Order: sequence, then C-alpha cells, then structure tokens
Amino acid sequence: MIKSLYFDNTAYEFAYELERLIRNFSLPHKLEFYTDKIPGGTDYAYYCADNGNLSVTVSDNGITYTETAHIADPSDYETELCRLLCRCMEKHGHAPLPWGILTGVRPVKYIRSIYETHDNAEDYIRNTLLVSDRKLKLANDVIRLQKPVLDTLGLKKISLYVSIPFCPSRCCYCSFVSASGEGALKLIDNYFELLLKELDIYADIVRRYSLKVDTVYIGGGTPTTLSASQLDRLIDKLGEFDIANIREFTAEAGRPDTITEDKLRALKNGGVRRISINPQSMNDNVLQAVGRRHTVKQVCEAFDTARKVGFECINSDIIAGLPAETEMSFEQSLKRLCDLSPKNITVHTLSLKRSSALFRQFGDDIGKGAENMTDTAYDMLTEKGYLPYYLYRQKNIADNLENVGYCKDGFESIYNICIMEDVQTILAAGCGASTKLYDGKNVSRVINYKYPYEYISRFELMNERKREIEDFFESKLTLA
Ligand code: SF4
Repeated sequence: MIKSLYFDNTAYEFAYELERLIRNFSLPHKLEFYTDKIPGGTDYAYYCADNGNLSVTVSDNGITYTETAHIADPSDYETELCRLLCRCMEKHGHAPLPWGILTGVRPVKYIRSIYETHDNAEDYIRNTLLVSDRKLKLANDVIRLQKPVLDTLGLKKISLYVSIPFCPSRCCYCSFVSASGEGALKLIDNYFELLLKELDIYADIVRRYSLKVDTVYIGGGTPTTLSASQLDRLIDKLGEFDIANIREFTAEAGRPDTITEDKLRALKNGGVRRISINPQSMNDNVLQAVGRRHTVKQVCEAFDTARKVGFECINSDIIAGLPAETEMSFEQSLKRLCDLSPKNITVHTLSLKRSSALFRQFGDDIGKGAENMTDTAYDMLTEKGYLPYYLYRQKNIADNLENVGYCKDGFESIYNICIMEDVQTILAAGCGASTKLYDGKNVSRVINYKYPYEYISRFELMNERKREIEDFFESKLTLA
C-alpha cells in the first residue's frame, strides 16, 4: 500500500495534482510527502522531472514499476507525469480511471475548453487525458444539450439561490452541511428571519444595478422543513425580485417525509414550477439502512400530491452505491422511479469520506458496483428518452465516477447547468451559500458562514462582505 510520495524539485511543482490523482486509486490513508529525497524501501510513488527526463516509479508491496518519457515543453510536464502515474498504477493491477487524469469536479467544463482550443480534441481527450470512451460520450452528450441554454445567458441575468440548511433527521451518508436534531431545528425561526433580511440586501442590489433575475433555486437541506406559512413568507419576499417572468423557479421538497399538500400549494401559488422529490432508492430496505426515515410508499404519495397540486416538472435524485443496494436492486429501483415519470432524474454516485461512520461500518465494500449501476442508469434512462444534461464529480466519489442530471427533452434545469459550468452570477442567501460573480470569463466567490449558529450570531459581520458584490457590479456597470 502506497504511503509516501517523493518528488524531485521540479516535479514538486505539480505535487497537488499528482496527489489528487493518486488518491483516485483509492488510497485510504494519510500520505507523507518528501521533496528532493531518494526513496528507500517500498510503498511509495516517486516523481522526477529532470531537464525534460520524466519518470514515475511506483513501489507497492515490494513490486516496483517505473515509467519514463522525454518531454521538451515544461508546460506538458504535469500532464505527462499524471499519465506515467496511471500507467504504473495499471501495471500494479488497478483498473484504468474512467475520467483518466482529470481530477476536477467539472470535467465537462474542461472538456468543452479542449474542444475550443485543440484541433484533434477527441484524440487528445482519449489518448492524452486518458478519458474512457464511455465518459467521453457522456460528456459529449452533456455538451450538446447544454449549448442552447448557454447561448441564452447574459451578464446582467443572474440566478438567486436560497439555502434552507435543515433536515428533519440526518441520513447517514450525508456529507452536506445540513443541521438536524432538536437543538439545530430550534434555530430555524431565528435563521429564517435573518434570511429574509439577507434577501432584502440582495433585492436592493438587484434594483440598484438593474439586474434581471433569470432563475430562483430554493435548496437545502430540505426546504420543506419550513412550515407552510414560512414558505408563504419566503415566496412573498422573493416577489420583491420581480420574478413574475423568470425562466425557472425550483424548490427542493427533497425528503418525502416533509412534504404536505399545504406546503406544496404554498410553493405552487408562489410560482414555483420545478420541485425535487428525492427517494435516493426505491427499495425500503436500503432506505432503512441509510436512515432515510421514509418509505417507498411515501415517495409515491408525494408524487401523487405534487401532481394533484399541479407540478409538472419533478426532479428525483437516486444514489448508486448505497449500502444494502445491489446492482440488481438498483436497476429495479430505477425502473420503479421511471414508472413515476419524473421529468428529471439525477443519478448520484455515493460519495463518502473514508473516515466516516458509514465507511467504518461497511468498510471497503461500500460503493461496490457503482460503476455498473451508473452504466445501467445511462443505458436505461437514455433508452426511456431521458438525456444527460449536467454532470459533476465530488471528492471521495465511489469508483471515481460522477453525478449526472438527466431530463426529458425541454426540461433541463437552467440553474443546474449554470452552477456546474460556472457561467452565471448567482447571488446566494443563507448559510453555507456561496455567491458566484461571473465576469464573462472567471468566477469569484463571496462565501457565507457554514453553520446556522454562525450565520445567526455573525450575521452583521458576514454582510460586510456584500461590499465585494457591490464593488463587482460597480466595476461592471457597462455590461450589456
Ligand atoms: S435529506 Fe439530504 S441534506 Fe438532508 S441529511 Fe439527508 S442527504 Fe443530507
């Protein structure tokens, strides 16, 4: 088992990327770093880039492989060291990584940039970046579907994100900053009042800089943890943003055990047109194993209620690789979900810190079969007329896979595309929320406090950061 990484002085320039890549080969422990030191013993990776003579040596359990290349252009060193590492790891019996040497969370964005800058882009993606044919096809599908949406954006059209970071209980695989439990839920009322104040600040910014709200997304956590009257007040507040003609208005209803008819009516009457009802699995034993505290029957009832209230566009999340889920039960789960005909299905892959309780409970078996499950999902969903329209990866994601949003034709979420591709300014309210300021090329961020208690106790201090948002728009007043 590899425990140490050694670098010569030049290769150390790329240590961050080389560490991220080697971690994709499922190394479950802390790695020691050494610079300019020759390794001894075994269980290490050693990277050298001496005057264009590149080499990677991987010693694991007493067996050592070295791969070498001569590269003239120093700007190609990082890519080549990554490729040499992959070749060594494969010789050691590791499966090729589906996304090759790409380690970032937005592979589609990167692949799109390759198409814009390289003549033989597909060759480069396949043979230099080592992206598998299957993932390249997936990325190409997503790029094709996103194009018409990306063509409709403008710098003064923004999205608004509202964070409700509370859940009635905590699912045991959750890595999101969501507060649950009695103590945390007591904070909701205070949090909610301050959230409305933060929205006042944004409404003022939108008016002063003549911005146009294009989409609104109320996310969580579980926004339907709020009461129906709080949802009413939230929607009233959002009315101050002139949202009557926005293109998309989403609220995550999320957990079926929080969904009631009066809450859905509050959302519908306020203009919400897209909601999420997220089963994560359509198998009761899996729901129980991950602490979801609702049943498949409740998922079906939530769909019935949403349809009765008049929601046509429903998104449903499902997770590949959950404990107690087999490849066969995942396939059945997905079929049952398709029978409910949501317009969007988002297939997540389990992402778990290896130090987490769930990982300790299930060990290395966790996430097993996720690759076959996501392949099944692609095949089944595309056959049923769903198209992949956005995609992202997370740290610690099982089998180095990805999360993919699928939609029926014409039901792609503009907000999801914009946030994943970093192509629109998003004003984000609430704790854990991150405002993104897009200048046509780059995104800068203004980040809110992570936890509700900090958001409440440091609200004024946090809002001093809004000056950065104003500065951004001050300097962009001439934008089209
Ligand atoms: S509902 Fe979602 S955000 Fe809430 S605890 Fe479960 S996984 Fe986390």
